[in-house]
Amino acid sequence: MSPLSVLPIPAFNDNYFWLIHNHHHAAIVDPGEAAPVLAALEAHRLSLAAIVLTHHHCDHVGGVADLLQTFNVPVFGPHEENIAGVSTALQDGDQIHIDELNLTMSVLSVPGHTRGHIAYVAHDQHWLFCGDTLFAGGCGRLFEGTPEQMVHSLSKLASLPDDTEIYCAHEYTLSNLRFALAADPDNLALHERFTAEQAKREKGLPTLPSTVGMEKATNPFLRYRESQIMRGLQANGRLQGDNPVASFAALREWKNGFQ
Ligand SMILES: [Zn+2]
Repeated sequence: MSPLSVLPIPAFNDNYFWLIHNHHHAAIVDPGEAAPVLAALEAHRLSLAAIVLTHHHCDHVGGVADLLQTFNVPVFGPHEENIAGVSTALQDGDQIHIDELNLTMSVLSVPGHTRGHIAYVAHDQHWLFCGDTLFAGGCGRLFEGTPEQMVHSLSKLASLPDDTEIYCAHEYTLSNLRFALAADPDNLALHERFTAEQAKREKGLPTLPSTVGMEKATNPFLRYRESQIMRGLQANGRLQGDNPVASFAALREWKNGFQ
């Protein structure tokens, strides 16, 4: 069996749909529209074997119905969200196996961005597909969940091995890192990362995948307990006391209005 690769399919303004393939078969993660997926399958001569969904937002599931018209394949999605076309509804601790790719992934429940959001971990490959929960340099907005839920969800992702590659669903990295520099201005690793990611974007390259180790070193939404970040929040009046969840919530609130 050929080794597996992951290809980004850029779509809309800043989405990536992730195509996992072995040069014959493929699985697509969060296809928000069908046309670019069909074009990529054709260009790489791949046959679709599965559709994998993290949460119900349109820019993640909008292509499912059209793909199912061409391919009769299983559709994996979260049990706690109502998504048309899902054939296998998944909860925390479940595993999926895609025979054509010889790929096993385990499911983590990561509510916060949406109520039933799930992430997929390919332990053998050290890959994480986390939708809109953890971003490179940031995290998803709290549309349906609480700061407590998101903190818990992000801590599950941060506990994966440092070399785990993070395939999140948007190219938000530079704007996330601009905010990170405001929240964590003395972080040398963060400054170095910003320079490196800018160079990738100037060449038109994706900044993804990131890694768990890189996010732990530079992402303020994993570093909200650090005293330098809390001191900054306290100094600009965004945080009273030193409660970690309050620190996370203050960062998320600040980022929502950050230009
Ligand atoms: Zn979303």
